[in-house]
Amino acid sequence: MDINLLTAAETESLRSLILSSDNIILCCHRSPDGDALGSLLGMAEFLRQQGKVPVAVVPDAYPDFLQWLPGTERIIRYDKHKSFVDGLLASADLVFCLDFNTFSRTDDMADTLAASPAKKVLVDHHLNPDIDTELCVSHPEACSTCELVFRLIWQLGSFDMMTRKCAVPLYCGMMTDTGGFTYNSTRPEIFFIISQLLTKGIDKDKIYRNVYNNYSEWRMRLIGYVLNEKMVVMQEERAAYFVLTRDDLKRFHYIKGDAEGLVNMPLQIKGLRLSISLRQDTEKDNLVWVSTRSVDNFPCNKLAEQYFNGGGHLNAAGGRLECSVEEAEALVRKAVTEFKF
Ligand code: 5GP
Ligand code: MN
Repeated sequence: MDINLLTAAETESLRSLILSSDNIILCCHRSPDGDALGSLLGMAEFLRQQGKVPVAVVPDAYPDFLQWLPGTERIIRYDKHKSFVDGLLASADLVFCLDFNTFSRTDDMADTLAASPAKKVLVDHHLNPDIDTELCVSHPEACSTCELVFRLIWQLGSFDMMTRKCAVPLYCGMMTDTGGFTYNSTRPEIFFIISQLLTKGIDKDKIYRNVYNNYSEWRMRLIGYVLNEKMVVMQEERAAYFVLTRDDLKRFHYIKGDAEGLVNMPLQIKGLRLSISLRQDTEKDNLVWVSTRSVDNFPCNKLAEQYFNGGGHLNAAGGRLECSVEEAEALVRKAVTEFKF
């Protein structure tokens, strides 16, 4: 199967960019998910195989249930080592921007990334990339950035030397960005890639368990609480939403990642096509994080752009509101009621 992404000229450009760069940094978006972290770790391992010494940086903390991924011990957190990373970026030759389309998705890292003289290679599957790059590998139809990283390694002719340590995070990101291959995962290329990854000795069932059966006891209790007491179903609009306040989070000993994927659950209700979650920030006042999920052709990204200062994909998007939780809830009800597409 032909899974190449680049023209011959682009392939050579990528090859020589890697070859000629001594100081390579990889970075991903704020609140890294499985795909952000998977593409970061997969690409970093690939570069090490090429004899490079890349540095993988994340803007802030990632969920506990991804800590098991091979290579996380080397990741540097920007929020903890700001001046060190600023220094690295100021003298970097090459920066890989993985799983984001604009610098603003890296929050506090945005300015220093924009100021870095390094050449940039973007590998991403979000719409409308807005970064000045040497090479832009942007494919919104891809299931994940991990899929794209695999295809780049494949096209560079390096699949044979791919290690298990590279294959595991790449599989993990493809799995998490498709909800365990239950959405956005119908293209045959995806399963061709999986069949290739399996030849590297990955245990896909174990990877599934590591991610989805590896939550804290408190998360399970939080799910029960949300479904029982917090979920509001708007039958007529075929939508549901829930609001998690800071007090709720405290009561359930919330740690990063505990609310991940919860927004998908109301979509299990027959006939629903839209789910929205609101989560009050644990530190900043007047900051509410929004997640939206939909099925079929309901454009979550349009909804998030129009109402929640955000964006994303057709069926999964997010944003942020600078207001109280009460005001955020009122806005959600308004959006659900009046949004037309
Ligand atoms: P989540 O709900 O998991 O935080 O985000 C779902 C998807 O929405 C992410 O994969 C990301 O593509 C997108 N997204 C989340 N927040 C934002 C945002 O503030 N701006 C944009 N453009 N996309 C976002
Ligand atoms: Mn992704």
